[in-house]
Amino acid sequence: MIPYGRQSIDADDIAAVVAVLQGDRLTDGPAVERFEAALAEATGAPHVVACNSGTAALHLAAMALDLGPGDAAVVPSITFLSTANVPHHTGAAVRFADVDPDTGLLTPETLEQALARPGPGTPRAVFPVHLNGQVCDMAWIAAVAERHGLAVVEDACHALGGGARLDGARVPVGAATASAAACFSFHPVKTVAMGEGGAVTTRDAEMAARMRRLRTHGFTRDPALFQADAQAFDADGVPNPWYYEMAEPGHNFRASDLHCALGASQLRKLDRFLTRRRALAALHDRALAPLAPRLRPIPRGPSEDDGWHLYVVRIDFEAVGRSRAEVMRALAAAGIGTQVHYIPVHRQPFYRALDPDLHLPGAEAYHARCLSIPLFPDMADADVDRVAGALAEALG
Ligand SMILES: *Cc1c(COP(=O)(O)O)cnc(C)c1O
Repeated sequence: MIPYGRQSIDADDIAAVVAVLQGDRLTDGPAVERFEAALAEATGAPHVVACNSGTAALHLAAMALDLGPGDAAVVPSITFLSTANVPHHTGAAVRFADVDPDTGLLTPETLEQALARPGPGTPRAVFPVHLNGQVCDMAWIAAVAERHGLAVVEDACHALGGGARLDGARVPVGAATASAAACFSFHPVKTVAMGEGGAVTTRDAEMAARMRRLRTHGFTRDPALFQADAQAFDADGVPNPWYYEMAEPGHNFRASDLHCALGASQLRKLDRFLTRRRALAALHDRALAPLAPRLRPIPRGPSEDDGWHLYVVRIDFEAVGRSRAEVMRALAAAGIGTQVHYIPVHRQPFYRALDPDLHLPGAEAYHARCLSIPLFPDMADADVDRVAGALAEALG
């Protein structure tokens, strides 16, 4: 079976994890800081807070922006569930935005439409999603956000290694120059694998410090932050050795040293992974060209460079005369895994019940045609031809 995506693990990744197992610290140890430093280097962000999933990364950012009851967060409907669930869990209302029907990306126009639509809560944040590795038009989104007083949190889970064009220069995804923070996932299908893992990048030192506290229950051992002086300090003003203090409740969102050692080892190969993903995408482009117009790759959007998380094609199932389920089953029978990224989140029963009449035609059109086909660094060139052959057959 050729899956639609999978991790690439080499001997050096295994050795990095084994070294942690043989050492003193399985968690809260030096591998966490090493991973954070490596991601800071890869993204150009001055502050990186590692955590145990992309969902936790989004949650830390939302909490550090004080998103909560009375607020609304704008989320594009074509995304993974967590981009919407996170603001919901903070108590904010989720204001779904439509997307470009061809790229699936939030655009300045669909953001404006979502803001103009009446709904619960005052819009305070927007979560642009760099879908499939294509980077949203961050200059415009930042401009719209500024006009409306919104904090921008990039869901960059698909886009590690990608780049935006800002003020005429290439800015790596995660540098967070046009946002408050960017959030990454290191789930095994993402470009870099930690098993489970995530991180937030930001340029805001105070926000980073708060997210570090929130990822470990919200407590601190920093005497400069202690408020309850009588408990914290002895008569000479020396901090008591047992003392820790919590000013606001957080979570256990920590990433262990095992996970971070794997992540740091993987990050060393990011350039190689991206080069291979790009090369395979170009091979897919060529192999699939004869299937147009019934099947076309999604057009390239406003990215400076793509992160190439997924290779997505748009299929005109009506013209083909076969349903997507039939095509997916035929491909599976030929040993080829595919997936649909994503079901519009506003159509999930939970969100549908909150806003039954919401209709987002761009998201519906994108969803109706999309299919993610295999793309991962260890895929062979010959696999590309196998996928194209099976697709040609499945489309009849
Ligand atoms: C993977 C993903 C997430 C969640 O990441 P986890 O590590 O699985 O929690 C959020 N948003 C998008 C767009 C993703 O692809």
